[in-house]
Amino acid sequence: MTANIPQVHRSAQLYFPDGDVVLRAAASDGVQLFRVHKFLLKHHSMAFSDMFHAENGSSSETYDGVPVVDMPGDRAEDLALLLSYLYNPSRLSFKRFDPDKALEISGVVRLADKYLLEPLRNHLVQQIASDWPTTLEEWDIRDAEIQATRKAAFAQKTTKLSRIIPEPVAAIIFAQEFGCTQILPAAFYQLAQINFKDAWEGLDKEVPPWHAQWANGTPAARWSLLEKDNLVRCLHGFQWIDDIRPIEFRLLSEKCWPNKEWADQNDYDVIEQRSKCYAYLCELVKVVWGKVERRNPLQLLLDCLDYEKYPELSKERFPEGLCEHCRESLPTEIARERRGVWGRLPMYFKLK
Ligand SMILES: [Zn+2]
Repeated sequence: MTANIPQVHRSAQLYFPDGDVVLRAAASDGVQLFRVHKFLLKHHSMAFSDMFHAENGSSSETYDGVPVVDMPGDRAEDLALLLSYLYNPSRLSFKRFDPDKALEISGVVRLADKYLLEPLRNHLVQQIASDWPTTLEEWDIRDAEIQATRKAAFAQKTTKLSRIIPEPVAAIIFAQEFGCTQILPAAFYQLAQINFKDAWEGLDKEVPPWHAQWANGTPAARWSLLEKDNLVRCLHGFQWIDDIRPIEFRLLSEKCWPNKEWADQNDYDVIEQRSKCYAYLCELVKVVWGKVERRNPLQLLLDCLDYEKYPELSKERFPEGLCEHCRESLPTEIARERRGVWGRLPMYFKLK
């Protein structure tokens, strides 16, 4: 018979002897009781104020000498976290780039919404949003940091890269539920670079020693949390990103732009014969895009600036290389192409 009666637990940390109200919430293993101070909750939230006001008038149940307030629909685990933030604001400083953060605080943000704790809610949402860039400049800075982290993870066998960088799927789901949608382009773009085979569930899987370094430096995603609409966004966006390739023509300097006669002919073979720079840039794009499949056109475009390091573009094959004008203008043209890719991410991933 006792099996049907839920186990009642007093919270270990949040049961204060001088508390003047007991909050009762369902936990995964029964019912949890929190003995807390009305003043603190009322101070933070009008919703709690109203709740205690209503409770004062009724002849409500008591526990341990103080009134009991039921918290229907609230998970005790989330309520515990919410209360701990109110009692210990120092716990509100979170580790940057923690990949579990979005999942851990989702429940509390929901409660903060429900009980109108707006400053707390905004602070928590900001903890997730601030891990993601919203401009190309921010993306480049963060990417450089992550690449450095990746090298470090690759070099040693103890830390997995996935444990120390933000995980895009959890962030996407969080952003969509709590409205920080400005992070979605970056989160989907980062997801595009993660292999479907690299699933979060496999992170703790034993790997042979010869594979450990590689496994440590390879990011994983919580693919299984994606539902239909986001999967469609992925399919759409990944396809677009796979197909991004700069039009070589547009990387030429103004000096080397074809004259009207060429343009009228619209014949690339002729242009190639006449413009050494055009032939060079065609080879460059072919080499860079042929390197590895990694669905990262923002990086591939940057790689185009290292044209001198590719053997396919050696002095033997292209004795004159790029002309002075094209050398000078290429960084500007590449920057323009990159801004274009960044600006179109919401379109690629159907975010608008
Ligand atoms: Zn040129």
